[in-house]
Amino acid sequence: MPPAQRADGPSVRVRAPSKVNLYLAVGDVREDGYHDLVTVFHALDLADELTVAPSRRYTVRCTPPDGVPPGAKNLAGVAVRLLARRAKAGGPVAIDIAKQIPVAGGMAGGSADAAAALVGCAALWELDLDRRALTEIAREIGADVPFALSGGTALGTGRGDLLSPVMTRARLHWVLAIAESGLSTPAVFAELDRLREQGSPPRVKPVDTMLAALASGEPAKVAAALGNDLQVAAVSLQPELRRTLRAGEAAGALGGVISGSGPTVAFLCADAESAGAVAAELAGSGTCRSVRVAAGPAPGARVVPTGR
Ligand code: ATP
Repeated sequence: MPPAQRADGPSVRVRAPSKVNLYLAVGDVREDGYHDLVTVFHALDLADELTVAPSRRYTVRCTPPDGVPPGAKNLAGVAVRLLARRAKAGGPVAIDIAKQIPVAGGMAGGSADAAAALVGCAALWELDLDRRALTEIAREIGADVPFALSGGTALGTGRGDLLSPVMTRARLHWVLAIAESGLSTPAVFAELDRLREQGSPPRVKPVDTMLAALASGEPAKVAAALGNDLQVAAVSLQPELRRTLRAGEAAGALGGVISGSGPTVAFLCADAESAGAVAAELAGSGTCRSVRVAAGPAPGARVVPTGR
């Protein structure tokens, strides 16, 4: 490793979850260019792990590196610099990201890394910042970053960044179908705007059905309430996603939905055993690049105790 990237002191390891949107209603475009959203986030144990260490200069390195910008453009690098400015503390750090969350997959991998970088540097620099202060900084970085800090299952409004926890006893088992190529979030919103100008694509029902399903804790009810206004736009840009959706349901999933802006398709299964069987069948269907199994709700970004 070049000297500039070598850690000069103790390092901190942080794990940050991916997310699926169990429900996503997209309102009209606001004056600031964002859309008003009503969404139910659900954090999954498919997680990125970051190691943050003091260094002679700022570096961000990701393994594997594909599709992820290094250095200052990486959201983890953006987060560290913003935290240093706001807290008036800290110094250069070397960040290593072990990437598990699919890139540009609608699972908020960049936001997870930003949240992990905030938590890691706050611990490394021994900052006296409570969760609320960290959440304010997270919101400045991006709409999905506050949820990556909080984890669990939460209702998001505004740009999706105003969160309130959702009570659920449900332990949910998922199969994730990862597509050959990613989708850009702005491109998917633009496609939805275009489809809405042309006609009236279907809209999700009110969120109450999903909240009641989560309160019941029954995976079948949650599956019946899954919905995403962006799905029609993601499918319009990648029509092959229709085949993926059909293949997961034919393999025995309770229901499937495109996660966020896609193109990852999340299939909810009855239990862990069923998820294993659905994953095996989907992997052989030739309708996606790869398949992962995950469970939720998972905790938000947190330091991994040493020795684990
Ligand atoms: P979201 O659902 O939050 O809109 P996404 O899950 O679809 O996003 P990400 O994996 O977060 O997509 O990546 C979106 C883009 O952000 C990537 O194409 C990449 O250029 C950029 N990016 C910056 N930092 C990161 C990071 N640490 N990990 C992944 N992508 C990053």
